[in-house]
This record gives sequence, C-alpha cells and structure tokens, in this order.
Amino acid sequence: MSEEMRWDLLQLVKSTEPDWIAKRLEEAVQKAGLWRERYQGKIESLDAKGVLELLEEKDKFSLEIEGVLQYCALRYAADTTDLVSQQLHNSARKAGTKIGQALAFMDIEMGKLLASNPTIVEAPALVEYKHYLERTLRVIPHLLSETEERLVMAKDQNGVNAWSQLQGDWLSTRTFQLTVDGKVRTLPYGEIIGYYQHHDRALRKQANQVVYHDLSKDEIVWSSAIRAICSDHLQMCEWRKYPSPMTQSLIANDLEQGAIDALMRTMMKNVDLYRRYLRLKAKLMELPKLGNWDVVAPLPSTPNKKFSWDESRKLIVSAYSHFDQQFGDWVDEMYQKRHIDAEVRKGKESGAFCSTWFGGKSAFILQSFNGTMNDVYTQAHELGHGVHAYLGSRAQKPSNYEIGSCIAECGSIFGELLLTERLLKSAKSDSERQAVLAMILDEFGMSAFQVSARYFFEKSMYETVQAGKFLDGETISKVWVTARDSVYGDAMEWLPEMKWEWTMKMHYYIPNYRFYNYPYVFAQLFVFSLYRLYKEEGTSFVPKLRRLLSAGSSLSPTDLAKEIGFDIYTDEFWQKGMKQAKEFIDQLEKTL
Ligand SMILES: [Zn+2]
Repeated sequence: MSEEMRWDLLQLVKSTEPDWIAKRLEEAVQKAGLWRERYQGKIESLDAKGVLELLEEKDKFSLEIEGVLQYCALRYAADTTDLVSQQLHNSARKAGTKIGQALAFMDIEMGKLLASNPTIVEAPALVEYKHYLERTLRVIPHLLSETEERLVMAKDQNGVNAWSQLQGDWLSTRTFQLTVDGKVRTLPYGEIIGYYQHHDRALRKQANQVVYHDLSKDEIVWSSAIRAICSDHLQMCEWRKYPSPMTQSLIANDLEQGAIDALMRTMMKNVDLYRRYLRLKAKLMELPKLGNWDVVAPLPSTPNKKFSWDESRKLIVSAYSHFDQQFGDWVDEMYQKRHIDAEVRKGKESGAFCSTWFGGKSAFILQSFNGTMNDVYTQAHELGHGVHAYLGSRAQKPSNYEIGSCIAECGSIFGELLLTERLLKSAKSDSERQAVLAMILDEFGMSAFQVSARYFFEKSMYETVQAGKFLDGETISKVWVTARDSVYGDAMEWLPEMKWEWTMKMHYYIPNYRFYNYPYVFAQLFVFSLYRLYKEEGTSFVPKLRRLLSAGSSLSPTDLAKEIGFDIYTDEFWQKGMKQAKEFIDQLEKTL
C-alpha cells in the first residue's frame, strides 16, 4: 500500500529522536511542578485579572506539550508492536499522570474561589472563559471535603472499580464455540460478535444464541456487579446531594433534565416509525419478521461494490464541498497532508478515531480502510470530527474545547448525512439506494431507538432499587425486557436468551458515571433535526452549522441550539429530526 495512506507525524514534533522526546516530557513535568509552587494556596485570593492570567497560561502550557504527547499516542496507535513506540507511549502516559497530579490543586482551589466569590464568573475580563467557569461552578455544591474525596477514591479502588473491571475481564478472557462450515471454532468475544453482521442468517442466529447462553450461565456475577454498582451510586448521590441518579451525568453533559425529558418523550411517541422501518427491512430481506439476529445484518441485495482510496476521497470531498467550499478544502487537506492513517496493517490499533491537533488547527484520523461502503462512511464520519476540530481550534482556547458527548458528534453525523445525499444522487439502481438508506437508518435505529431502550432500562432499574426490591438476575432481565419491548413492540422476534442482553453492556458497569446512554440518542436526533433545517433553509443554514461547530464548549448545548433558533426543551424541536428519519423511510419504501 502506498505512503499516502499512512500518517506523516513529523508535523507534530521538531525531532522524532526518542531522547529528544523524553527530554520534552521531562521538561513538561518540571514545568508543572514549578507552576504548582507558584500558584498553590494562592488561587483563592486571585481577582478576575489574576484568574484570566492563570487560565491563559494553563491553555498555553497545554498547547506547548500537545505535539509531543500526541506524537507518542499516535505513533503507538499506528504500531502497537514497535518497541520504541511502546516505550514512548509509556513515558508519555507517565508524564501525563505526573502533570495531572501536580496540577490537581488548580480545580480544587478554583472551586473554592468560585464558591466564595461566584460573581467573578460575570467579570468582563473573563468573558471568554465564562462558560468554562460556570461549568466549574456547577460541580462545586456536590464536592465533598478533601479528606472525604480521598476516602472515596480509596474505597472505589476495591469497590466499584473492581466490579467494573470484573465485568470487562470476564468478557475479554472468555471464549465461545461457534460451528462454522461444519467445524467448531473457539472464538474470543471480540471475534464472535463480528458474526452478528454475517450474510449467513443461520450463523448470525447461532452467534447470538451462543453468546447470550454463555453469558446467562454467569448471571450471578452480572447481577452481583450491577447490584453493587447501583447501590454504590445511590449512596454517592446521597452524599454528594445529587437530587436524582441522573444528576451527575447531566452535569457532565452540560444539560438539564427538561431537555432529556422532551427528547425521550419524542422517542416514545415515535416507536411506530421505527417499527415501520423494521417491518420494511424484513420485507427487503424476504422475511415475515426480523429476528434480533437480523437487525444489523446487511441486505441480501446490497451490491458488493468496493471503493478505491481515490474514489472514497473524491466522494467525501465533494460531499463536504457541496455543503461549504471551505469544509471541502479542509477535508481535502487532511488527505493531502497525510493526516489519515487508513492502511490495513498488523499491529495497528483497531477501530477508528479522530484526534484533534489543537495547536496545528487540524486533526489526525485512524481507520483501517478495506474499501467497503461502511469504510467510506467511517471516513466521512471521522472527517466530520476533523472539520469540527478545524473550526473549533480556530475560534476557541483549549479550555473551551472540552466538548461533551451530546455535541461532539455533530460534525461527524452531519458528514454522514452529506455523504448519504451524494450516494443517493449517484445511485444507479434501487438496490444501491436501498443499501445506502438501510445503512443510515440502521445506524439511526441503533443509536436512537435501541439506546433509548437502554435508557428506559437504567431508569427503571434505579426505580426498582429505590422501591426496595432486590435486583437478582431474573428481576433485572424482567426490567430489561419491559424496556426493550416498549420500543420494539411486536416488530421483532427475540431469542429467549436475549433477556440477558443487559449483562454485556459496559455502560451499566462504568464506575462513577451512570446514564452514559442518552447522549447517543441526543446526538443522533439533534443532527437529524439540524439536517432537516438545512434541507428547509438551504445555503442560509451553512453559517449556522459553522457557528455551532466553532463554539466548542464555550456554550451549553441548550444555548448552542438557541443560537440557531431551536429550543431543545420542546417536543417540536426533536420531532423535526423524526421528520427527517421518516423521509428516509418513505424513500426506502418507494424502492420496493
Ligand atoms: Zn464519532
């Protein structure tokens, strides 16, 4: 494969000599120490000008070290088997931890300053950091004393963290037996789930059956873990004075409950729309009804078309250029400057990601490109994150680029929709159109509706505990099936083993972070609503999206939406996104 599909990481550092890199890391750790000496114990008495100076210096420092840290991380992602990469990655991680520890006092002292003098947030000198300070202020009422916080950290080590690790370790160490072409194969979890998208229906069904049957055998492990994590969370909510089990997640996502209530109400109101899509997909697959093992399967009519690297580039650049010429130019620059590592290689990290290079006002993308339509979509998705990085790094300070998960996917999902538009325009047959529409609707269904079921499940689980019920495996499964069926109704057939689906969803086991789910629903429907608005307003919508992607985290999602005339507390806003989904479903129906 050619060099153009490999990163050029030389842009990040002045030298790639390991000794030179190690020296820079050392210097950064020293600098953080000096900073601590200079500011520790003094932040509480700073005035607005002093706070501004501190925040500006903090941003400057993070930019100084960014290139070297990123070089180490990306070099390792590109080849995890290379010894030098491993060593650099390790040194960078260690330096990062040391810097974090040295500067931990800053947030604590800043919190104390804001608690004693909250009006400082309004100071004209700090206008650029206003929302950054508001977010810090929101956390303060829920912090415990320093001693208590240390105790919490210590008990978590062998408490919730250990339960969570047990779940992860179980999944990554177990193997499953699948009969493929008459031969029994022993597969790790990561590999057997690949069969969920296999074109052979019986194999897909078998893979689902094997996984969930094996998971159910250890229900005692899963229910013990979930029970402990739930009770721990409820205890912490009481101590931290969170009014509900969701508060912590709302603060982290910079949102209010009212917006999520409107969003989830809209999801429930539209379950029939999703069921209609599932029935349509069953028809396209020539089945009387979809089984849960068919839901992410490819359509049998999907053309086996492969895209070359150049075709993919041309297609994606044209999709973005059609929306905004500068978007297209930036996307093209990502290819031209070799910011995309797409070569399929051994030792490379799996999956795909986009890493913002703030100092270079750009980004780096990793994926493994095999030329499938899925790969082209992944590329368009990651390049949308790239455009977000180009705009955000030009308009904001690093402190204002801590984007929460609800907004982080705006550029990427919008990019997928732009690609969809191009692909639908150039499609030459109904089966090509069906493949494109099923791709976008499958993703919408999984991220919006499937994840909604997970949200309803988590909500009811806490209600069940709060009502004094004991969460054993069967009780949790009942709660899961009720939540699931409220979304899917009778539009899908479920294997009996699927009542254990909750056992493998990592979200429920993440320590100290509950309700990890609704941001996925938010992001999907939010972007579908934006896209709908684009279709209605045409080019006058372009500056609105530019503004949204330029804002970074300098505004809350509520205010970002307000700027483009949306109120995320109303069902009408969210319904706009559903209208777009309905249009795609109507288009699909017409191809039948
Ligand atoms: Zn993404």
